[in-house]
Amino acid sequence: MRFIEFILSLRLKFKILMLFGLILVLPLAVLMGITLERTSRMASQDFNRNLGYAASLFRESLEDQLDSLKIRAKTVADFDFYTLAGMGFSAETTVPLMQYELIRSGLDYIAIIKNRSEIILEQGTPPSESLARIIPAMCHSQLNVNLYVIGDEPWIFASAMITKLKTEFPQHVIFAQRIPRDFADKLKRLTGAEFSLIYAGNRILTSQMDVYGKRKSGRLMENPDTANGQTEILGRSHFFVREEALKGRISETIRLEIALPDSEYNILGRTMRRDFIVFGLLGLVLALITGYVLSWHIAGPINRLAESTSLVARGETGILPEISRHDEIGDLTSNFREMVISISTEKELKEQRVRELNTLFEISNAVNLFTDSEELLKFVLTHAIDALEAERGSIMLLDDSTDELVVKVATGGRYRVFASNPVKLGNGICGQVARNGSGIICNEGFKDPRFRNFGGLMPVEDIRSLICSPLKFKDGIIGVINIVNKRNGGQFKDSDLSLLNLIASQAAVTIENNKLYELSITDGMTRLFVHRYFQARLNEELLRARRYGLTMSLIMMDIDNFKKFNDTFGHQVGDQVIQKVAQTIRDTVRTGIDVPCRYGGEEMSVILPETRAEEAFQTAERLRENIASVSIPHSSGDLHITVSIGVASYPVHAHDRESLIKVADKALYTSKGEGKNRSTLAPETSLV
Ligand code: GH3
Ligand code: MG
Ligand code: MG
Repeated sequence: MRFIEFILSLRLKFKILMLFGLILVLPLAVLMGITLERTSRMASQDFNRNLGYAASLFRESLEDQLDSLKIRAKTVADFDFYTLAGMGFSAETTVPLMQYELIRSGLDYIAIIKNRSEIILEQGTPPSESLARIIPAMCHSQLNVNLYVIGDEPWIFASAMITKLKTEFPQHVIFAQRIPRDFADKLKRLTGAEFSLIYAGNRILTSQMDVYGKRKSGRLMENPDTANGQTEILGRSHFFVREEALKGRISETIRLEIALPDSEYNILGRTMRRDFIVFGLLGLVLALITGYVLSWHIAGPINRLAESTSLVARGETGILPEISRHDEIGDLTSNFREMVISISTEKELKEQRVRELNTLFEISNAVNLFTDSEELLKFVLTHAIDALEAERGSIMLLDDSTDELVVKVATGGRYRVFASNPVKLGNGICGQVARNGSGIICNEGFKDPRFRNFGGLMPVEDIRSLICSPLKFKDGIIGVINIVNKRNGGQFKDSDLSLLNLIASQAAVTIENNKLYELSITDGMTRLFVHRYFQARLNEELLRARRYGLTMSLIMMDIDNFKKFNDTFGHQVGDQVIQKVAQTIRDTVRTGIDVPCRYGGEEMSVILPETRAEEAFQTAERLRENIASVSIPHSSGDLHITVSIGVASYPVHAHDRESLIKVADKALYTSKGEGKNRSTLAPETSLV
């Protein structure tokens, strides 16, 4: 189970390799095992059969030898000696007869002995010293045939007692026959086995020949009593079995050895095992090569595809797999490529849409960020340039009084800001856009016949491509937005114009809204912030100072003896004075940081964020001096006015809005009380 799980968990490549290995090698191994087992069983059956046959043949042949001697001996003894005795012969007179009998019976030896030790006649070849050992054994029984070894050779002996000879003592006749040297050879020819008789560690009879064709003899190398084993005969492995030869009918232990060469089946088994191993290995190598080729051809590309899908899943659509083939995997790769391309196009489109929406949102939201209309226009322009992937651009607004387009902001390129002369409606590309109310793409740049040079700081040759869209609010045109030079030398497309139209319409609303907002917080006469804005802003700045642990100050001022001024020179001149004072305040304080307001009537205030009391007092003094130096031309001569100022700071003088105003006001009245045209910093003890 674990193995199967393990296989299933492998990569495709290894699965294929394992599969091929198993398919080719497993059946081969099983086949090999079965065949080898059968062969070895047959080999052992065959061997045992051959061995049994050879052994019984040898045994029977030896028995036959004994039997044949017994028959011959009996015939000679029973007949001839009996007849001789009847004729009155004595033992001594039988010698010539014995010689004759020897030749006639085909025996190798016949002897007449008086008793067990005294040989009275000896013929034939056996060595006489051995006879002394054999005769006593033989004389016990009549015609008992036995196998003996004399010298180096096996003999068969039989004895017969002659009772009817004319002698006082019983006489014995000994018959002997040498086992022929080629006795084992005949059997060998029949069975293929080597036969030997072993006596006292020597081969006394053998069919084994040495390499020179000479019969082997002499001492055995191995222990002669070993029952069976393995031996080498003429370079061929043989299995031998040794047993006692002719048990009970031998003089001393003589062993019979049968050595059989390895069965043909055994040799076949060995050859087959070798072949199987060679073919098995070859099969395994082939399986691995096939598996590898298949895995290289199938699993490899699938792996690469899988890696590509992982990349795509992680959102990386930039690297596409190569199509390098024309089969199903090639189709798969090609389809995958198309899928990735369409996904990435879709993704780009979506990102583009999100960017566009973002731009529109930011532009529509910009009204909340800027109180300054120029800042707002710059913001709109920068976002439009980025959204259209352009280099620079400008926004022109229509001056209602002259019906001319005037550059309000321009940005990008070599010149951070450039201006040009006012452009009449219908004049040049931007003039046409403002008049007709529809955008224009001009990828010819300055070479376009509609293009006019309005004498801006920008060299016209720098304008390669141009796109221009009207700023429409309700039914009217309030200006145009010009975007110049697509980045990387590209051209503007219809989609760019659609986007710019969208941006322009949103921008127009934002610009108009901003105008309204500016109007709502600005005092019409002085162009200072109105009282309501002052209160809201003071609150905001106090909160900010409190949150971030900052200081802030408030300046309150009041024109001195203004009632009298009005009375003397009239209200209109009074208004002019108020406007001049407001102008001086705007010029003196930090633009975009300090907040100059008309507190009410001829009273002004300035909120000074992040300003300590002493710094605020210095500003107040500067304001007072600047206002004092203002001269208002009048028929009765230049008029001058002065102001009285009170300064208070957070957190040294007050902690909330009302208190801060109160303290500053109090300081202002101190200035009035002390003779006017002066500034008073609220005393620190005045903390409320
Ligand atoms: P003081 O030095 O104590 O301030 O004396 P003052 O005469 O200036 O007294 P106060 O500040 O109380 O006078 C305010 C006068 O300013 C009242 C009003 O006639 C005049 N005034 C207020 N608003 C305007 C305005 O918008 N235009 C003109 N021309 N006069 C205004
Ligand atoms: Mg006043
Ligand atoms: Mg006054």
